[in-house]
Amino acid sequence: MNYLVHYGELSLKGKNRVDFEKRLKKNIEEKTGGRVERLRGRFILKNPKNTEILRNLPGIEWFAGMEECRTDEEEVIEKIIEMVNGERPESFRIRVKRVNKEYPKKSNELEEKFGGEVVKKFGWNVKLKKPELSINLEWLKDRVFIFLEKQRGIGGLPVGSSGKVLCMLSGGIDSPVAAFLMMRKGCEVDFVHFHAVEKKELLKSKIPKLLERLNAYQHRGRIYCIPYLKFYEKSMELNPRTELVVFRKFMYLSAEKIVKKEGYLGIVNGDSLGQVASQTLENIMAAESGLEIPVYRPLTGMTKNEIIEWARRIDTYNISIEEYKDCCSLVSAKNPKTKVKKRIIEKEMEKIKGVVEESLEKMWIL
Ligand code: ATP
Ligand code: MG
Repeated sequence: MNYLVHYGELSLKGKNRVDFEKRLKKNIEEKTGGRVERLRGRFILKNPKNTEILRNLPGIEWFAGMEECRTDEEEVIEKIIEMVNGERPESFRIRVKRVNKEYPKKSNELEEKFGGEVVKKFGWNVKLKKPELSINLEWLKDRVFIFLEKQRGIGGLPVGSSGKVLCMLSGGIDSPVAAFLMMRKGCEVDFVHFHAVEKKELLKSKIPKLLERLNAYQHRGRIYCIPYLKFYEKSMELNPRTELVVFRKFMYLSAEKIVKKEGYLGIVNGDSLGQVASQTLENIMAAESGLEIPVYRPLTGMTKNEIIEWARRIDTYNISIEEYKDCCSLVSAKNPKTKVKKRIIEKEMEKIKGVVEESLEKMWIL
């Protein structure tokens, strides 16, 4: 079957638009195994092997399985009847979108004509608002596309049209969603993960599974894996009540080094305001101070339920809830401060001097 694919185009002009279309075409072909024909404002996807991915592929507004015929009214009605044969709707309507305004009949004239033919053949009721069955036509210059059900896509921009960012991946529910939301805005996302477990154990954990799942929506992202044993060893000297913020600063500084060396355009993380003690405005500010690159937090204003909805939609939820010994089981103060001063953190950072560099020496790539 062939599919009609529509994308967001409102703010796109000139060269950007062509780049956007080419990028989206390439992404769709890579992910579905089909071939894309680019038309004005829409694509035809031919013989895809997998269409499930279209729902979540950044840049797609909606798509529909469709049939095609020539702009011959007899042929059109034959095709419609063939397509709806077997349906038994309470009500229906026909919608014609005339993309080519040169055709002598107007949209509503065509709708009336084809609607009349369907009533004559099947006796169904016409209902213009919320019909059970909607028969949709796109009328181009020399071809007509006919489709019944539209499926919503995720919108946004095709992956690869914005640039590369580095996402801090913890293995929890939030950070995969943060990564996906950046992909939805056209970013390619690589990851950095700080781990307490042995490499062997990590390879069997949910971390590689999360990578694979997230890579379903983009090109081949990688994970920079950084053991934080060195941090852990030094952490005995830290004040337990501010340790979490110090740990976050350690992660930021390590990530920043990778960002600068490899040319990423910023860090992304799964912070959501107020969710836990380290995610108060004060603590975010204290942990982030001194960084020379932007940190994107696409979940800042979202509730946990909203984040979970996203995680389910992109199919990371079930992986995220698998057991894993993450940082919180090591760095865990009973009563963490929610309003840590930058000054205090800077003092604490003195105690872990050199730990960022030592940890980066042990980095490996997944
Ligand atoms: P998540 O569900 O993503 O783990 P969380 O609610 O558990 O988030 P925190 O543990 O405070 O929140 O982490 C906030 C963010 O910091 C995470 O979303 C992630 O981006 C980053 N982060 C936390 N731990 C790690 C880690 N071990 N490696 C890489 N990034 C991490
Ligand atoms: Mg976490």
